[in-house]
Formats: sequence, C-alpha cells, structure tokens
Amino acid sequence: MGYNEKERAFIEWYPRGYGVGFKVKQRIFETQTEYQRLEIYETEGFGKLLVLDGTVQLVEVGEESYHEALVHPVMLAHPNPRRVLVIGGGDGGTLREVLRHKTVEKATMVEIDEGVVEASYLYLDVASELLDRLIKKEEPRGELIIGDGVRYLKETDERFDVIIVDSTDPVGPAKLLFSEEFYRSAYEKLNERGLYITQAGSVYLFTNELLDAYRAMKKVFDRVYYFSFPVIGYASPWSFLVGVKGDIDFRKVDVERGRELELYYYDPERHETLFQMPKYVRDLLERA
Ligand code: SAM
Repeated sequence: MGYNEKERAFIEWYPRGYGVGFKVKQRIFETQTEYQRLEIYETEGFGKLLVLDGTVQLVEVGEESYHEALVHPVMLAHPNPRRVLVIGGGDGGTLREVLRHKTVEKATMVEIDEGVVEASYLYLDVASELLDRLIKKEEPRGELIIGDGVRYLKETDERFDVIIVDSTDPVGPAKLLFSEEFYRSAYEKLNERGLYITQAGSVYLFTNELLDAYRAMKKVFDRVYYFSFPVIGYASPWSFLVGVKGDIDFRKVDVERGRELELYYYDPERHETLFQMPKYVRDLLERA
C-alpha cells in the first residue's frame, strides 16, 4: 500500500487491484493532520505529489488537467458567475482557476483541514502565493474558511452562482458531500440560476459511486449532466456531475470568454467532447 521504498514508487491502489503509480525520488513531508494522513513526495517526472490517506490528490505537473475541467466548464456555462463557493480544494488550485474569471466578485473556499492548506502553501508549487494571501486575509476577491463544508452550506445566509465541490472521495469527512441532503442545501443556496459541480470518481472503478451520486442529484436539481475527462494522476477517465438550477444550458459555454483564458487541457471550443462516456456507462446512467 502506498510508498514502496525498495521500488522507489508510490502507488495508489484502486478496487480490484488497479494501481496508479509514480516513481519517486523521495518522501519530503509526512504528517497526521486532525483529519487525515498527509504525504508529499518528489516524483521523477511530475513534480511534487500530494497524497491524503493513501490517495493521490494531485501532481504539480498536470494538476491543471483536473482543475481546468472542474472549474471552467461551469464558469463558462454560467452567464455571469459573480459569487462562487469552493468546498474542499485545500491545495488552492481550484480557487486559483476560479479567480481567473473577471466576473468573479467574491469566491469563498471552505476547507475542513488546515493541515492541507499549510502543507500546500509550504511545499507545493500550485497556488502558494494565493494561499499566502488567503491566510493573511489579503486576497481582495477570495476568502478562506477552515471548516466543514456540509455545516457551512447548511448555515450560511450567502447565495452563490456556482458551487464547486473539490473534495476527497466519498469516505471519511467527504462522505456527506455526496448525500441527497447535502445536494438539497446546495440547491437552496444557489441563486435563481446556478450551477453545482462535483468530481465523482473514476468512471471505470467507481461506477457505482457515480451512479449513486447521479441518482441523488437528479432528485434535487432541475437537470443533471455528467461528463468525463482524462486527469493525470487519477484512474482516468474521471467523472464529473453538474447540477443545474434554473434555465442554464450546460451544453453551451461562452467560447469568447473561454478563449481569453488560454487553457491547456479543457477546450471551450470543443465543449461537446466533454460528454463522451464509454457506452455501457452511459447506458447505466441513462437507466439510473
Ligand atoms: N483533486 C482532489 C481529488 O479529487 O482527489 C481533491 C483535492 S482537495 C486537496 C480535497 C480536499 O477536500 C481535502 O483537502 C479535504 O480535506 C477536503 N475535504 C474533505 N471533506 C471535506 C468537507 N466535509 N468540508 C470541506 N473540505 C473537505
């Protein structure tokens, strides 16, 4: 499990013995936070690797393949996203991408584990300047709250145009982020027109979890879309679920705004390519 010193490799094991691994030069940090075991490795070819409870969160080289897919499709499908909530995302990569949108007036990130923010700030070249400003409360359009996203969303009086759930997998502190009750409070806290997105796990290896989340979201949102994207470091393709409130068509994005972002992985001009799914998974989703 995890780090194999002899092989100098870190492997994340998925169900049925499927592994995703990196050759590593060394482990550079390791701690048990209040919530999870956190490790950082220097890999041979992908920069530093962040691991939480044995699961790969990101590698510095290629993290945009996840953050671009999570953030920009919803931000470009919303006509005017001004207020954004990020739940989880302690490495800062998601908030970094959100703040690239000029329409955003305020973006709030609610991360349960201060240890992830601190370690990302200290060791990772992902969003350390942004995290520094957030910690010092010097980011004019961004705010960091250390707390449970489930509780925050239930209790807040704020309303959002876009809610992005950038969480760990549906076990431990992230479990409730995939519940119908949580989707209901997200729906309630969206403005009249709003979008909700969550990562939903590996298409092939967490198909049941994807189907469960899809079913639960369909009970709550006006429409639910699914898409997949190849993400470096995960058992790809990775799935994403989008819940819509009001009259937004997630199949269309503002290509002009998208072009200005000069993205590397997600291509707003080929937005329709997001929706490809292996046939049997599509069939399962359509029947769900
Ligand atoms: N990109 C990653 C992935 O999909 O593997 C997720 C990265 S991000 C570091 C995930 C974060 O979600 C973790 O830092 C974790 O502490 C946070 N998290 C988990 N449950 C949470 C909750 N209930 N409220 C807020 N943050 C939560």
